[in-house]
Amino acid sequence: MESYELVILGGGLAGMCAAVEAGEQGASVLLLEKQDELGGSTVLSSGYMAFAGTDMQEKAGIEDSTQYLVDDLLEVGGAVNRKELIDAYGQHQLETYTWLKGHGVEFRTLQAVSGHSVPRGHTIDPHQAIQVLYKRAKELPNVKIRLNAPAKRLLKNAEGRIDQVLFEADGKEHTAAAAKGVLLASGGFAKSEEFLKLFAPHLDEALRIGGEGNHGDGLKMACEHGAWLLDLPYLSGTYGFHPSANSAVKSQGLAFYKGGIIVNQDGKRFVNESLSYKLLGNEALRQPEGISYQIWDQTVMEKAVGDDPLYDFDLLKRRRLLYQVDTLEELADCIDVPVEVLENTIALYNKGIESGSDPEFGRKSLTHHYGKPTPIEKAPFYAFESTVAMLATYAGVAVNPQGQVLNPYNETIPGLYAAGELTGGFHGAGYVTGSSLGKCAIFGRLAVQDALKKTTVV
Ligand SMILES: Cc1cc2nc3c(=O)[nH]c(=O)nc-3n(C[C@H](O)[C@H](O)[C@H](O)COP(=O)(O)OP(=O)(O)OC[C@H]3O[C@@H](n4cnc5c(N)ncnc54)[C@H](O)[C@@H]3O)c2cc1C
Repeated sequence: MESYELVILGGGLAGMCAAVEAGEQGASVLLLEKQDELGGSTVLSSGYMAFAGTDMQEKAGIEDSTQYLVDDLLEVGGAVNRKELIDAYGQHQLETYTWLKGHGVEFRTLQAVSGHSVPRGHTIDPHQAIQVLYKRAKELPNVKIRLNAPAKRLLKNAEGRIDQVLFEADGKEHTAAAAKGVLLASGGFAKSEEFLKLFAPHLDEALRIGGEGNHGDGLKMACEHGAWLLDLPYLSGTYGFHPSANSAVKSQGLAFYKGGIIVNQDGKRFVNESLSYKLLGNEALRQPEGISYQIWDQTVMEKAVGDDPLYDFDLLKRRRLLYQVDTLEELADCIDVPVEVLENTIALYNKGIESGSDPEFGRKSLTHHYGKPTPIEKAPFYAFESTVAMLATYAGVAVNPQGQVLNPYNETIPGLYAAGELTGGFHGAGYVTGSSLGKCAIFGRLAVQDALKKTTVV
């Protein structure tokens, strides 16, 4: 049997941050990755990370603070998220941003994104991030990474402590001992029809986009040993994908956060577009035939951000996914909605936002408390058919701020840690953009720090 201090399951952002942290602390580490490459959902992501009080914000003249970020996380989470986890995020977020930068992760731009009261979405290229972390891990002789090595089960010793992992590699079954702990970082279950049917039947119609290996293996392994699950009732998809989108071709655009509106097949708005795109997704799936369109004008088009995963509307145009016409009449014809209804919808919306009160849905901002909506009046006009994708399952095993997995009585399961998308309790009822990648990096490292400071009686 191979022996290590830590065994980490999964090579996405949570697992890779944890492996580098543990390796730099001198621990012997085995990271098992089920697929033939690292990256999981992380490398498919838009790369937004939520941090507050950074040098990038300061340079852009944005005033922000940890408390402000914590307040947004709690508010958007509907205050059903676990406060101790949010506080831990707040306490460690800036140091984590610095740690990532120090390890060569490049932060590129700063944008206003869902759920934040100020521009706080710091973009990374997730491939670049995984690559630099992998390069660092390879420099550390005490870190071993095995690809094509799915973990299957966790074993307990006589004292009830999780201390072994059964895994497969090279067509054989192996056992690795983990003296100081096992860290589950195996991502969510966006690619498991079995889990989605069980926990999110309301998302049957949503597209599936996520890491190929993300089938909820870690959840099963943790549940076998008594883990409690949180946030499952709040599972939701993400709005803003063209129906043709899939993992390989990302066709996402969030023009509604720059001032667009969303209408259904009847030509009517149905929601306050500044809400989290998860909540928008829930509403969109309830519309006639599940069809809806983002509608915007040239004023919004001019706010496009080139090369951005969410706001590059010109890219959508180049990919021929947008309708662009000179009149609302033509637009209604393109998307097959009644012209007089669409014109009324837009007239009512323009009147409402000009007077500062959107009578139908109460929209006052572009995103969460941020930015001022503008009237839709300047030709050309644009329409983008949009639907919902199940990208990431922000629900899963209960953990404390040290990443220790908890049972239903809030007691720790000795030797078992979890970080990243397979954990629950952090996002609660809503989702703030960038907080998933953020929590991977923060809690992956916190779990390692806790595991390594514990002396283990074997
Ligand atoms: C299209 C898209 C856009 C997104 N955009 C953003 C964004 O902008 N900001 C943000 O914060 N979040 C975003 N997310 C969500 C975010 O990317 C994920 O929640 C996050 O990357 C999860 O990281 P992780 O390390 O927990 O898991 P992953 O990155 O999914 O890694 C888990 C790894 O574990 C492996 N694994 C699974 N089972 C086993 C097993 N049995 N044994 C060994 N290995 C196993 C998987 O193969 C995978 O490589 C997005 C997600 C998608 C799909």
